[in-house]
Amino acid sequence: MKISMVSEHASPLAALGGVDAGGQNVHVAALSAALARRGHHITVYTRRDADDLPRRVRIFPRVEVVHIQAGPARHVPKDDLLPFMEELASGISRDWERRRPDLVHGHFWMSGLAALDATRQGPAGVHIPVVQTFHALGTVKRRHQGSADTSPFERRWLEPAVGRDADRIIATCSDEVFELKAMGIPPGRISIAPCGVDLDLFPGAGQADRRDRTHRILSVGRLVPRKGVDVVIRALPLLRAAGFPDVELLVVGGGGDAIETERDSEARRLLAIASELGVRQQVTFRGQVPREAMPGIFRSADAVVCTPWYEPFGIVPLEAMACGIPVVAAAVGGLRDTVVDERTGLHIPPRDPEATAAALARLLADQGLRQSLGRAGQQRARSRYSWDRVAAETEKAYLQTLTGTAAGRRHETRDQLYPVEGAAL
Ligand code: UDP
Repeated sequence: MKISMVSEHASPLAALGGVDAGGQNVHVAALSAALARRGHHITVYTRRDADDLPRRVRIFPRVEVVHIQAGPARHVPKDDLLPFMEELASGISRDWERRRPDLVHGHFWMSGLAALDATRQGPAGVHIPVVQTFHALGTVKRRHQGSADTSPFERRWLEPAVGRDADRIIATCSDEVFELKAMGIPPGRISIAPCGVDLDLFPGAGQADRRDRTHRILSVGRLVPRKGVDVVIRALPLLRAAGFPDVELLVVGGGGDAIETERDSEARRLLAIASELGVRQQVTFRGQVPREAMPGIFRSADAVVCTPWYEPFGIVPLEAMACGIPVVAAAVGGLRDTVVDERTGLHIPPRDPEATAAALARLLADQGLRQSLGRAGQQRARSRYSWDRVAAETEKAYLQTLTGTAAGRRHETRDQLYPVEGAAL
């Protein structure tokens, strides 16, 4: 199959850990590589966000990234990208004049918009099916972030419209299926394919980085409030009171190296909380860490702790599990599927420092428990979440889309699709 991926803000080539670069970048790169291993040809379209990027780059056999001029050639926060989606769509559709894809797969709602627009610009009578993975949903984000949500206002009606007009939606976890149905998407058009973990990069055994304190707990991810790193900081004094004073919290992710990260506004907020609670000396910000250095860091930890307010999927717990490290996870979104309570980690309620401290204390006190959860996590990651398996499930969804799409179907025009501007669902 010839497959176009559209990933407007999340390039497979970007450095990870910054505000807008995380799981989606990993997902698009790894899924494309795994589909290519199955013999498919993949072109990933992303926005040109720097002047010095080549137009086309081959990143793996049968996978190329095409940078499309759409808005300024510099970093633009993803929530400001909507005005450039029509230009992105035109650039993609022009590129299709060289070679038309059999199917296009949009990642994130704005890419879905651009993918649908690009298919409308092709020759009349040619329907290119669109498969959509949202990665995150505006409805969920608004519910949790309220007025702090910086998404464009139009997301309220454009995102559900993308969902209705795409030929098939791929949800990454069972929780998302409920949300999609609530958005009005018929269940028959929804498939599930989770994110995966790179088992070559995160093999079971290997070197662990050195650590200086008796215990290390690890938080990995973009440094944004909804990842809930403050919950873990608030758990540190409680852990101390429970008899674990020599614990380091290592925080990986942020806008640059450790020093730049400490200047970041979210890091400053977190450091202020740590100072106020008297645990500043226990918190280390490592900043952005390249992929290859991640396995050693995971293995240096007694536990990985993920305490987001909500989580569309969450690749970090899978990486921890692949490395044999137990996960303390808020029981939200995708984490409820990946981390099995009392088998591969411990579930806790979101935004709950007391429960976080209690779960961590249980793990730190019991090496046997850590080992058995770690072993089970490793087995689960290997048996269920290899990218090869995820690619096979995605391919199944593609084939269903190709056979199920009525010949001659055409995606709605923009006017048909968004008839009442502002009619939020
Ligand atoms: N990551 C990384 N270096 C960093 C910070 C994060 O390689 O400094 C990777 C991390 O290992 C994971 C991804 O970025 O593969 C984050 O994905 P996740 O789905 O957990 O979170 P998202 O960013 O999608 O919210």
